[in-house]
Amino acid sequence: MSQNEILLNYVNNRWQRSQAAEQLPVNNPATAEIMARVPLSPAEEVDEAVRVASNALEEWRRTPVTDRIQYLFKLKELLEENLDDIARTITVECGKTYAESAGEMRRAIENVEVACGAPLMMQGGFSEDIARGIDEFMIRQPVGVCAIISPFNFPGMIPFWFMPYALACGNTVVVKPSERVPLTMQQVFRLLETIDLPPGVVNLVNGAREAANALLDHPQVQAISFVGSTKVARHVYARAAQSGKRVQAQGGAKNPIVVLPDADMEMTARISADSAFGCAGQRCLAASLAITVGDARHSFAGSIADAAASRIVGFGLDEGVQMGPLISPQSREFVESMIDKGAQEGATVLVDGRRPSISGYEQGNFVRPTILQDVDPHSELAKTEIFGPVLSLIHVDTVEEAIDLINSGAYGNMACLFTSSGAAARKFRYEVQAGNIGVNIGVAAPMAFFPFSGWKDSFFGTLHGQSMHAIEFFTQTKVVVERWPQQWSRQF
Ligand code: NAD
Repeated sequence: MSQNEILLNYVNNRWQRSQAAEQLPVNNPATAEIMARVPLSPAEEVDEAVRVASNALEEWRRTPVTDRIQYLFKLKELLEENLDDIARTITVECGKTYAESAGEMRRAIENVEVACGAPLMMQGGFSEDIARGIDEFMIRQPVGVCAIISPFNFPGMIPFWFMPYALACGNTVVVKPSERVPLTMQQVFRLLETIDLPPGVVNLVNGAREAANALLDHPQVQAISFVGSTKVARHVYARAAQSGKRVQAQGGAKNPIVVLPDADMEMTARISADSAFGCAGQRCLAASLAITVGDARHSFAGSIADAAASRIVGFGLDEGVQMGPLISPQSREFVESMIDKGAQEGATVLVDGRRPSISGYEQGNFVRPTILQDVDPHSELAKTEIFGPVLSLIHVDTVEEAIDLINSGAYGNMACLFTSSGAAARKFRYEVQAGNIGVNIGVAAPMAFFPFSGWKDSFFGTLHGQSMHAIEFFTQTKVVVERWPQQWSRQF
């Protein structure tokens, strides 16, 4: 890679130079070094990718599912062999630590493994004699060309919430990665190139808003899988629906954790710090609000403050680093402005991570872990997705108040409870309006064989990524009712 290298698109099994008028630099967020340039592919190039994907459909669909998954077995092996290289790429373009990047790719691989179960998961159903001599059955067929539009914060994992399932089900795919982290998919597609998929089955188009909108509008795209901010998820859901597509659009979050006085405080602080500050808080499952109940207030605040202040911040490939930078200077400015705002709104800055100096990485987009105490639950700080290493502490007197507070929020991606009471845990998981629940867990990320749930403003659609949800999303059901009268049977 060099700073003048323009990344290529991959269409019809060929690497192609984009004719885009505009390219953006791809920066290492820890050093600001420019590593390559990403083209903002125009709508015509999206159109070409969709057309080749559409042409490839008929033959791919007729390829038996047992043969289709053989490509995924090969891909899994290649991803395993290249995990280290891909993880390093994720760290240099996205900023998270090497361990976080490797963990992300492990999750990607798990989705390939689950999608290899498509022969069983795609099975239909059969009812004999729904009326005398009449049978009825349901089969699953692919939906067509599927587009994946992904965010910057998990460049390796998120396309895999969708791609392996779409392919296993007999669809063809166009992936548009985030323009801020395009290098990881370049590397993944270098591997895909070697497994000899038929031309047009998987395609990569780099770009930003114009490329995304071209996918949303294209008449030959049947399904959109989107992950990103709520504002864009809403737009994607509405615009793609206008042309009759099926859409799954996962949006932003503001995740609360609730700490009861009977929680194991040492464990709770350690796990909560990993949730709030892991990936520098740029995780859709990052804890952003910690709601302490009753006596948990002081014990939790002290322990979490120590965990925040002692976190080692730096470049994610350096030994011992526990937290990397934010994705961009704009993101750093926004996060710091939200901390300023919180202080203006009356919160106390218990641990202040603003404008740190990280020796050797003075150009990086760093904000250290930050904790604000006595945050007003109705303030902007308490309601806005910050997407940085900032934890706001709010205090309430009862678990009921905590649940009401959570349910009054706009988002519903994740909520976690720390307690040693089974009854409190049951009440919490029963009553809380969020799609992913943790009990003594800080990042309740569903394994690949569960849907990546999300409710309210964190998700628009019906079927989520991963697991059986993905299989249902990437297939359409066909129901057949058949009569074969006995008198038609010949004697052989
Ligand atoms: P983003 O919404 O800015 O971008 C996501 C994708 O949409 C990118 O590919 C981008 O090119 C495209 N895009 C941006 N603006 C667009 C527009 N106006 N029209 C069409 N396409 C557009 O998100 P991001 O900053 O890359 O990612 C962070 C966000 O993603 C956070 O809000 C985070 O919570 C969310 N996220 C959610 C989940 C989840 O599962 N719910 C998972 C990861 C990230």
